[in-house]
Amino acid sequence: MTQNEWSHIPMVDLKKELSIIRSPILEAITDVLDSGDYILGEKGKQLEKASAQYVGSTYAIGAASGTDALALSLKSLDIGPGDEVITTPFTFFATAEAIVQVGAKPVFADIEEETYNIDPDSIEKAVTTDTKALIVVHLYGKAANMQEIMQVADKYGLWVIEDACQAIGTEYNSKRTGAIGDIGCFSFFPSKNLGAFGDAGLVSTNRRNIYEKILQLRNHGSKEKYYHSEIGMNSRLDEMQAAILLVKLYYLDIFLHNRMEIARRYTESLSHLLKTPPIVKHREHTFHQYCIESDKRDELALALKQNGIDSAIYYPVPLHLQPAFDYLGYNKGDFPVAERKAERIVALPISPMLSFQEQNYIIKTIKGFLENNG
Ligand SMILES: *Cc1c(COP(=O)(O)O)cnc(C)c1O
Repeated sequence: MTQNEWSHIPMVDLKKELSIIRSPILEAITDVLDSGDYILGEKGKQLEKASAQYVGSTYAIGAASGTDALALSLKSLDIGPGDEVITTPFTFFATAEAIVQVGAKPVFADIEEETYNIDPDSIEKAVTTDTKALIVVHLYGKAANMQEIMQVADKYGLWVIEDACQAIGTEYNSKRTGAIGDIGCFSFFPSKNLGAFGDAGLVSTNRRNIYEKILQLRNHGSKEKYYHSEIGMNSRLDEMQAAILLVKLYYLDIFLHNRMEIARRYTESLSHLLKTPPIVKHREHTFHQYCIESDKRDELALALKQNGIDSAIYYPVPLHLQPAFDYLGYNKGDFPVAERKAERIVALPISPMLSFQEQNYIIKTIKGFLENNG
């Protein structure tokens, strides 16, 4: 097949995905329109129940976004001014932003060379008497080293919040991410592995007191309408998005299966040529992103682009070097692994709709580049 049969291969192809689920989605939207109930209704409750079941947690609470899910989680643990929360500098900005939103201080700990996830030993070095919690990110869909992380958390009496925004359905020691620590946070941003058609998020927990607290916090600190026991947020997952997500949840395992299969083929073809993602058992990586590393990352990305193939860098600047976090006083060199990865990493298209032909073309283009630039 030649390049001309597709003008361009995007990172994700939401339109192509919609084409196979269009009719149940339209039906779900019509149901909501006709119900006259648009916020905190039946669809939201159904989604919370189905998500809790999927994740394997006792409770789930819808929120307006993944970022809000993180902020609600921190608030529910009474984390605020004077408290420190340890997290990874190699993640999407929102992970650390939420810590600042509740008035606490983000403290970074470097990542593991192999998995890109927070290193349990670095966590231990970052603990102080002010540390209250960890936010562990399962980056790209790969579960973090939860066994050791939970041991460190137990040792110092820290809460563990899992940022599972990229990792819905990922499994680790027969549990799913979001149900391993004290609280799990999910994002349904359109391009996530389970995406809404707008912003939406979710919190999961096995703890009844946290569940009840977040139910109130997301709705202006109110249990009974117009009676407010505390300052909360307006952060609800609306009925339209809930209805859409219920349809898409039904397809999630098939889509994750496709992602893992595409990843397997990339690794089979490329692992002898450059660094590919860690090989894991079963569903310990659900491949929200498939990232490779190269000394010539920028040249490789350009070569892909010239051949009509999109790629992306998640993330080009580690959080400790972001201008917004200047006030924390970190310097270049503080987290060498994260800094090196930010210079070397590039993500390849891994939409569940990516065809064999498209993938073969991507692999061929990468091999061609490496032959000329080896
Ligand atoms: C997407 C994402 C978020 C934020 O989710 P939103 O729904 O966009 O607010 C937080 N953390 C990580 C790791 C993410 O990938």
